[in-house]
Parts: sequence; C-alpha cells; structure tokens
Amino acid sequence: MNIVTELSLNPDIQSRAIELRNMLQRASYEYYVLDAPIMEDSVYDALYHELKEIEAQYPQMITSDSPTQRVGEKANTQLGSVQHHIPLYSLDNAFTDDDVATWQERCQKGLSTTAFPDEFLGRFLDSVCELKIDGSAIALTYEHGLLVRGATRGDGISGEDITPNIKTIRSIPLRLNLENPPDRLEVRGEAFLPIAVFDEINQERSQTSETLFANPRNAAAGTLRQLDTRIVAKRRLDFFAYTLHLPPSDRNPQSQWEALEFLEIIGFRVNPNKQLCTSIEELQNYYQYWSTARLKLPYMTDGMVIKINSFMQQEQLGFTQRTPRWAIAWKYPAEEMPTIIEAVTVQVGRTGTLTPVAELRPVLLAGTTVSRATLHNSDRLAELDLHIGDTAIVRKAGEIIPEVVRILPELRLSGAMRFVMPTHCPECGQPVLKPEDEAATRCINLECPAIVRGAIEHWVSREAMDINGIGEKLVRQLVTENHVTSVADLYELTSEKLRSLDRMGEKSADKIIMAIAQSKTKSWGRVLYGLGIRQVGSVNAQNITDNFPNVELLARSSPEAIASIYGIGAEIAKSICEWFRKDTNQQLVERLQASGLQFVSEQKDNRVIAINPNIAGKTFVVTGTLPTLKRDEAKALIQSASGKVTESVSKKTHYLVVGADAGSKLEKAQSLGVSLLSEEDLLNLLGTNVLVET
Ligand code: NAD
Repeated sequence: MNIVTELSLNPDIQSRAIELRNMLQRASYEYYVLDAPIMEDSVYDALYHELKEIEAQYPQMITSDSPTQRVGEKANTQLGSVQHHIPLYSLDNAFTDDDVATWQERCQKGLSTTAFPDEFLGRFLDSVCELKIDGSAIALTYEHGLLVRGATRGDGISGEDITPNIKTIRSIPLRLNLENPPDRLEVRGEAFLPIAVFDEINQERSQTSETLFANPRNAAAGTLRQLDTRIVAKRRLDFFAYTLHLPPSDRNPQSQWEALEFLEIIGFRVNPNKQLCTSIEELQNYYQYWSTARLKLPYMTDGMVIKINSFMQQEQLGFTQRTPRWAIAWKYPAEEMPTIIEAVTVQVGRTGTLTPVAELRPVLLAGTTVSRATLHNSDRLAELDLHIGDTAIVRKAGEIIPEVVRILPELRLSGAMRFVMPTHCPECGQPVLKPEDEAATRCINLECPAIVRGAIEHWVSREAMDINGIGEKLVRQLVTENHVTSVADLYELTSEKLRSLDRMGEKSADKIIMAIAQSKTKSWGRVLYGLGIRQVGSVNAQNITDNFPNVELLARSSPEAIASIYGIGAEIAKSICEWFRKDTNQQLVERLQASGLQFVSEQKDNRVIAINPNIAGKTFVVTGTLPTLKRDEAKALIQSASGKVTESVSKKTHYLVVGADAGSKLEKAQSLGVSLLSEEDLLNLLGTNVLVET
C-alpha cells in the first residue's frame, strides 16, 4: 500500500502533516540560520518527501509557510539583506533510475506542443551531468567586469550581502577575463570547504571547546556568514561556478555545456567532472561511476545534478515555485533514513534468544529496500522507548543488518502504545527468562519448535553438514509433523516418511535421504561446528578439532586446556565445557556417533602441508569466489599449515586471499595496506605439494 493511500485511511493524517511541517521548519531553521543541523540530510529529505506526498493528495492542507512551498530560510544575521536580481532556486530530488527516467519523460512532454503532442516523446533530451557539490550556493554580480556583490541564496528572493567574505575566495575572480564586459553579469556556483580544511577547523574548535560543525556544508555556510573577514580568509573556502546569466545577445552560450566552457574562459573554476550525455544509460553510468569515485575527491558531494543542455529547452520548461523543471538532483543512497514502525514481532533464535524485530514501512536504504530492522533486545527497546507507529531512523551500513538507530518522539501520534517484550515465548508459550545481568531474553524450553528448527537449520547449513535439499520450509514441516525433534532424528528419516509430507515426490525424497547419508563423511571439525555450541564458529571449530582429534578428549577437557589453543578465548572454552556437561547433549553425541557421524579427525593425507614458515602464525582472510578452490577448502589448507583464518579484515590481518566479486573486505584490506593474494599466490605460498592428488 502506498504511503498516501494508507494515510488517507488514517484519521491522524492532518496531525501527521502538522507535525511533519513543524519538525521540518525547526530543522530548516537550525540548518540554514544556525548552521547546526539537528538531523541527517537524508532524514530531512525523507520527511520532506512524505509531507509533499500528503500535500499532493490533499492540496487543501498546503499552507503558504510549508517547507514544500519555499526555498531555504530567511536569515536573521547582522549581515545586510539584498534582493536577488534573478531568484535562486532549489533542486528537485531523484533517488532511483525510475525517478530520473520519469523526469526525462516529463521534460519531453513539457516540450511537446499542442500541435505536435508527441514531438519530443521518446527522444532523449541531451543533458549535462555535474557533481552536486555539498556546499553553499552563492550569487555573484559583476558590473563592467568587476565583482561588485556576493550574496548567499537565503530564501531565493533575498539573501545576505557577503561581498567582503566572497573577496577572500581565491578562485573567484575580482575582475573577469572578458573584453567588452556587459553592464551586468551574474554567476552562481557553490562555495565549499575542502574536507581537509573542514577537519582542521573542527580540530581547532575542539581545542577551544567550541561546538563542532556537523559537516563541511554547514561549515562553509557558517564561514560565509562570518562577520570577521580575517577568519573567513583563514578558512580557505573554494568555489565552483555552474550558472551564468548574461544580458541577451546573439553571441551568448546557447547551452549549459557552452556556459560551463565560457565560465572557465572568463576566469572561474568549473568542476572538471562534468559530462554531456546523450542517453539515459550515460546518465546512469555517470551516476554509477561517481557513486564510489566521489569518495576519493577532496571535497564532499551528495549526488549529481542533471540539467537539460539546451537553454532554449530550459526556457520552455521554466520553473515551479521552488525548482527549475529542467534540472534534477540525483542523490546518492543514504545509510540512514526515517520510516514508520508498523509493528514489532519477536523472533526466537536457535539458542532461544528472543529478538524484537521492527516491521517497517518499506524504505530505500543504501540501495536496497528495507522492511525489517533488528531492535536487538529489551534493553535497547527500553533505551529507544519505542511505541508502535513511531517514526524511527533506520541505518544500514555496508553489510550490517539494518537496525533502528533512534526514534523521533516529536512525530509520535497521541495514543501510540509502547512495545513491551513478551513474558512468554511466542513460539512455544512457555515463560521466558531474562537474567538481571544479561540483555537477552531467552526461551529455555529445549523442545521449543523455534530452537529445534534453528538447530536443524544450522546442522544442515553449507558450512556444517552441507545437506542439500533441506531448507527452512522443509525443516518447519519436519518439526511440525514431529518427524524430527533433534538433529539425530534426521538419520532415522526414511524416504517413505518424507514422502508423507505435503508436495514431496519420490525422487526428491530419495535425494534428501542420500544427502543426509553423505553428511556422515563430513569432518569432525564440521560436526563440531554443526552442533551449534554458542560462540563456536566454523573457523574455531576447525581449529579446536585440529587440536582435539576426537570428541572424548574434547568432552573431558578443562576450559584452560581448550583456551590454550592459539586463537581460542576463555569465553569460547567455557561455552564448550558447559555444553558437553549437559546430559541431553551427551546423549545427542552418542546418538550421532551411533549413526556414523565423524567424531574423530581423519588421518592427515598428503594434501595436508606440514608447518610452513610462510603461513604459520600468519592471519588470513578469504573473500570472493576463487577459481578452483572453495573458500572452505582454502581456509582448511591455510589452517593445516598452521595459519590462522579469521572472518574480518583488521590491522592484524597479514593476507587477504581474494577471488572474483570480492566486496567490502577487499576495500578494507586496500585501505589498511594488507597484502593481497590470488588463489595461485596462496598455492605458491603453501608449496607445490598442495596440488598432489591423494
Ligand atoms: P539541495 O541541496 O538539495 O539542492 C540545491 C542546491 O544544490 C543548490 O542550491 C546548490 O547549492 C547545490 N548545487 C551543488 N552543485 C550544484 C550544481 N552542479 N548545479 C546546481 N546546483 C548545485 O537543495 P537546497 O534547497 O539547497 O537544500 C535542501 C536540502 O538541504 C535538503 O534536501 C536537505 O538535504 C538539506 N536540509 C537539511 C536539513 C537538516 O536538518 N539536515 C534542513 C534543511 C535542509
């Protein structure tokens, strides 16, 4: 259901609009006037978008002071106010490919005439792509070639006179390189602070206990409006020009592209990363390319600006009250966004831990649609003071699971109910346990279907027994039908039993039985991992079984002996000992042993390398798809040569073994200067004997 239709059914829509407006107005004032934002730009943008949608649906709700009806904010500084000769506009935003395509189509429609309604439809309008510099817009007036005035954008109609400050910016010419300059010429562009300068300023401010600037954009805006010009000069602002207004003449540039070239000729710095595009694909490629390349620039950008190139077409398209119709800002995906918590559900994990999960109104976040976010545990819930229907800021950075960062209580509708953790397990109905000193709430009923399902899913997973054909759905069926109540029951399943399940054919059933049987050949290391002992991951399990060649030795061992293994900490050792101490677990091991699972290390074969000085004691991470080895095989080879394998890259990592389609681990390794190895390099390091067939 889209936001507006849903809200139209909601009697609180009017108050939501009022609250959004109040909140945006406050944020806008803090941002533009005080240069001290109280929320992320992406959060502001999303709330603004929500208000705009409500107003589009209910135009009678629009008020003249709504943030959707105006540009910026009237400033109240001690600087003099000046009327702009030509208004300064804001830009409409796009967030997806579709938004950009829709904008192009709208422009094409806008140019078509009544006589020829389809004249431009389907014909891409040449467009200029520019980086959207995250600074402050300024308007410069030149008379007879001399800079006479510099002003901030303000509310677009009037701004503040900041001429003395503007004159300190070296990249703004005081005199134009132009023969016979016109009586008046206007140039607009972005004044910004290079990131390095921004960092320096904040460092200085922290030493003098001044409040820090939130970002380079606010620092630039704050600097431009400084009363003391000496401070401005010290701060080394910079400037890129992007708009030119000349009195009418035949010799004037006819397009944005020509205007940018002209601006350069007459003495301005123009951002060199511009591109004239002749297809929608080129726009998309520009966006894609700069999505990462921009992170290496010495100044901040928050998107790209696309402008219809031809001035004639621009003129025909004109402006809305706030924005030109012929330009759009395509912003880069944010890692934080606001959305509404529609419900909270509680998941029970394989260890019985109850995790509250926020069911969200779907939101586009860091490039993907997010509809659920973890709320971690009851302590976190209490900290957030979460009510159903709250507007929450959700974050998704890199590969991290989306999480709720904070709540905006100002937008809470009256009567909203606080969410409290259940006192009974939502899966089995038994009372849950919440120890005082732990954040987690746990179901301790070992027969709880969620715990049983979780244990089986873990056992059959790729890194454990790798049993093909048993997915989440089948596990649920098996547990619900009471065919399986522990992983040991899997080995007593028959093809007939499986066939009694809904939608299970003979062939599939036989295949699954075969896959279960094959799992009996999996190594002791995988079996230990598959048992699902808390804190024992696949790498640790392998490491432990390398040192404890059979289960009896491990089960009888002291925590100290286990913790003496290189890379195994006291917590893990304690968890293992506690696990083996329980009767039910011992019975499980006995049943699995009786079924023929491996609880003893294999004899080392000649694929296994003796201690290798290139590898021993070194820390490796393996990422991406390797040409011939599976990742687990590569890890096993490294471990068998006494190398250590970890899951994440840190300063302690010696080598990153990289395959195809490597992601953030590669980036992190590069930034930390970690040595990279291909599969071939790794095999060379291990020694040629690795390739000898057994
Ligand atoms: P904007 O920043 O989204 O886009 C317009 C501006 O882009 C122009 O005024 C200009 O300064 C800049 N720009 C940079 N490069 C450009 C280029 N090559 N060509 C043309 N323009 C270019 O819009 P805005 O009206 O300046 O500000 C609105 C934005 O400010 C919001 O989208 C929001 O992100 C932010 N805002 C944040 C808060 C907050 O509390 N965090 C409050 C108010 C506004």
